[in-house]
Amino acid sequence: ATPTSIMVGTGRAAELGVLFRKGQALQTLREAKVIALDKTGTLTLGRPELTDLLVQPGFDEAEVLALVAAVEQRSEHPIAEAVVRAAKARGLSLAAAAEFEALPGLGVSARVSGRRVEVGADRLMQRLDHDPQALAGPAAELAGAGKSPLYAAIDGKLAAIIAVADPVKEGSHEAVAALHQLGLKVAMITGDNRRTAAAIARQLGIDEVVAEVMPDGKVAALQALRERFGAVAFVGDGINDAPALAEAEVGLAIGTGTDIAIEAADVVLMSGDLRAVPNALAISRATLRNIR
Ligand code: ADP
Ligand code: MG
Repeated sequence: ATPTSIMVGTGRAAELGVLFRKGQALQTLREAKVIALDKTGTLTLGRPELTDLLVQPGFDEAEVLALVAAVEQRSEHPIAEAVVRAAKARGLSLAAAAEFEALPGLGVSARVSGRRVEVGADRLMQRLDHDPQALAGPAAELAGAGKSPLYAAIDGKLAAIIAVADPVKEGSHEAVAALHQLGLKVAMITGDNRRTAAAIARQLGIDEVVAEVMPDGKVAALQALRERFGAVAFVGDGINDAPALAEAEVGLAIGTGTDIAIEAADVVLMSGDLRAVPNALAISRATLRNIR
């Protein structure tokens, strides 16, 4: 492409809220065969709400929620904020948490009012030898509805299952359909539960799901997609997404996301609306068609 056509193309993209940080990316984007997207905060709002709390016999619902929220108060994960908001909405007062520990991609633990409290994915419960099997039925049902199930253990006993739901963004479904129209495969990469991810992917018409990916596993997930389909464009918003944004043929960061993601990206989407992605792709193709 000539420098002039690239200027015109990046200018048109900018009008649609798509900032090409390098002119090169305009040319690389049209080669993409698969678009991989992060789930939380990219396809979804990244603002989950607590929807369900099911306690095991012998546990009190309000007490469990207060203990769990006391731990989550120390975490910065969006899930943690949902739990704390729900507890406060019920007027529960939260005790201080000691010995707080965050296990990235798994969950959190702490000591609250002399009780040992652990909250997180089924993987965390397995690792702690709290067999999540007793709650596998309700967990599967919640996940099948696109909610993320979390387990809580108190003093080493499985105490409850908590579900949070993170609404999909307006425009995500349409963006996926438009990407299909342009001939691309669409994939989702997430640390969330396999069933939850599958339910959301089905809802959005996404072709490929890579779920239960640990925070440092996104690059490997992306490389596997590249082996199968070819050049990858990756869209993400979080700190965890930065390595994948750098690894992809084209990295697209959500402008409202973290600075670390934006710095690692070739393209910045000024709004969170994913319909900008097929628009950017269409512009990249049109720009290069013009000069041939
Ligand atoms: P994602 O971006 O998909 O949420 P993470 O790697 O941040 O991926 O988390 C993966 C999983 O680990 C979550 O879906 C959840 O089950 C569990 N988890 C992480 N942090 C917390 C937390 N603060 N409280 C409860 N569960 C958590
Ligand atoms: Mg995210």
